[in-house]
Amino acid sequence: MIPFVDLKAQYASIRDEVDEAIGRVLESCEFTLGREVAEFEREFADYCGSAHGIGVNTGTSALHLALLAADIGPGDEVITVPFTFVATVSAIVYTRATPVFVDIDPRTFTIDPARIEAAITPRTRAIIPVHLYGHPADMDPILDIARRHGLLVIEDAAQAHGAEYKGRRTGSLGDMACFSFYPGKNLGAYGEGGMVVTGNESYARTIRMLRDWGAERKYHHVLKGYNYRLEALQAAILRVKLGYLEAWTEARRAAADRYDNALEGCQVEMPVAAEWARHVYHVYAIRCRNRSAYRDALASCGVHTGIHYPVPVHLLPAFADLGYVRSAFPESERAAEEVLSLPMFPELTSEQSERVARALREFEDAERLAHIRRVRAGESPALLTGTA
Ligand SMILES: *Cc1c(COP(=O)(O)O)cnc(C)c1O
Repeated sequence: MIPFVDLKAQYASIRDEVDEAIGRVLESCEFTLGREVAEFEREFADYCGSAHGIGVNTGTSALHLALLAADIGPGDEVITVPFTFVATVSAIVYTRATPVFVDIDPRTFTIDPARIEAAITPRTRAIIPVHLYGHPADMDPILDIARRHGLLVIEDAAQAHGAEYKGRRTGSLGDMACFSFYPGKNLGAYGEGGMVVTGNESYARTIRMLRDWGAERKYHHVLKGYNYRLEALQAAILRVKLGYLEAWTEARRAAADRYDNALEGCQVEMPVAAEWARHVYHVYAIRCRNRSAYRDALASCGVHTGIHYPVPVHLLPAFADLGYVRSAFPESERAAEEVLSLPMFPELTSEQSERVARALREFEDAERLAHIRRVRAGESPALLTGTA
C-alpha cells in the first residue's frame, strides 16, 4: 500500500527531538503563547524573509485576522479564486466582505493576472492570490495591478512554505501572508496552527491583539478580538520541524522529478513549474480525462490518491448565495474535473514513486489494448482518442 501522505514516517525520523520539545513545554507549564511561540514566530518570519510573524490557531484564523487588520468588512469586496480550499473564501465571508472570484491560469492553477482588472470595482479592497499546491502565483503583475488600484495583497500561502517567486520566498511578497500548519501541510503541527507574516508593524500589532481577545495588555481590551492563540506545544514541535523544512522540500522536489521522468509519454498531463517558480509540491496533481477510472485503477494497485478539489467554491452549495452559475469560471471547473493528486511526501521512496508510475502506465496500456479489441470487433471507431 502506498499512502497519500505518511506522517508516521516523518515522526519516526525526528522522534527524539520532538519528544524532547514536548517535554520541555510540559515542564514549563507555559501552554499558550509564551516563549516557544515567540521564538517560533521569529524563526518562521525569518525563514520567509519577513519582519513579523504572529502565530495563531489555524490558517483560517490567519486569513481572517489579516483581513480584519486591513479593516476589511461589510460592503467591501475581496478578489480571490474559486479553485482553492474553502477556507480562503470562508475567511472573507467571516468579515462580511464579499468574495469576488477570478478564474485561474490552467498551467499553474493560480489566479490569472490577466483577468483581475475586469473584476475590480470601487468596492474592491484586496486580492488574495492562493499559492495552490505549493506553486507561487504570478506576483509581479498582481502587485502591479494592486498598486495601480490601491488594493492590498494578502498571500494565501497555506500550501506554500518555502516556495519562491523570482528567488523570493512566499510570505515576503505581498502586504501580508497567511500560513497553515495543519498536520498534512508542508510544515505541519501535531494539531492545528497558523501564522500571519508581514513586513508591516502596524498590521502585526493589530493581529497580535486580535488573536488574544483584542487586549493591549491583560484585561485592557481595545479591540473586539478572538481566542485564536497558538499553543506552545505546537510551536515547540514546529520549531523542530522548521529545521528540516528545506531538506523535506528538496525531497518533495526530487520525488516530483522522479514522477515527471517516470510519467513521460503518458496521456496524463504532468504539473508544470513556471520559470520563475520554486514549486514546493505540497500536492503533485496530474490532469486526466476520465479521472475516476485512473483513480480506481491506482486504488486497485494499493496506490492512494486525492482530489484537490473536486468542486470549485463557486459551485459549492454553501456559497450558492454568492449567485455564481456553472461555466462562470471554465478553467477552475475543468481543473476540478481533471486533477488527481498522486502520493507526495518527503519520505516517498524511489521504489514507491516507481510503483505509482508503473500502476498508472499499466492502466493506460490496458485501456489501449481494450480499445484495440473494440475496434477489431467493430464496436469503436479506429481513431484512438485517449483512454476510455
Ligand atoms: C489548509 C488551507 C487553509 C486553511 O488552513 P487551516 O489551518 O486548515 O485553517 C487555507 N487556505 C488553503 C489554500 C489551504 O490549503
